[in-house]
Amino acid sequence: MKIGVLCLQGAVREHVASLEQCGVDVVCVKKKQQLADVDGLIIPGGESTTIGKLIERFDLAETLKKYIRQGKPVYGTCAGLIMLAKHVEGSKQFILGGMDITVARNAFGRQRESFEEDLLLPFLGEEPFRAVFIRAPLIKACGAAVEVLANCRDEIVAARQGNILVSSFHPELTDDVRFHDYFVAMAKQYKRDHAKE
Ligand code: GLN
Repeated sequence: MKIGVLCLQGAVREHVASLEQCGVDVVCVKKKQQLADVDGLIIPGGESTTIGKLIERFDLAETLKKYIRQGKPVYGTCAGLIMLAKHVEGSKQFILGGMDITVARNAFGRQRESFEEDLLLPFLGEEPFRAVFIRAPLIKACGAAVEVLANCRDEIVAARQGNILVSSFHPELTDDVRFHDYFVAMAKQYKRDHAKE
């Protein structure tokens, strides 16, 4: 089982460490050829405009879009969530799209630029999940195919559509790898379903 982490900018090392704790092989993806070899991909947090520019500069856009279109497992945290959205409110920045959501960037407001909150996420078990928000985006609207996975202060902060998973918070900044485990399970399921096709 090999999971890639898009290694252009942002919280890359932390995702690598969380994935290693989940017992999978991790590949730092910088070249499009590497995408052929991974069973899932994480797009980390950072600055979505910068990540977008680097995706274009490294000529990764088409290959990444195709990877997402094919239904391969992709998980975007924070800026990664923005990259996977269909619409970003008030912005013309480059995004990959794929998920039927409209997002607002930096949407918790100035006083709340960074904060942590315990979320009850029944799909991960009874223990609350410590969610770390850093200049986090919010999901303002989502299409019928989107399953809301988490709310915080009446806002949508995690969701899934098919094999696309997003969270506006950063599980990689905690020791709790349940979110990563959930993504790895998605990737394992995808691999089983597509074995020897
Ligand atoms: N505010 C950043 C953006 O809009 C995202 C912040 C993050 O990834 N922690 O791209």
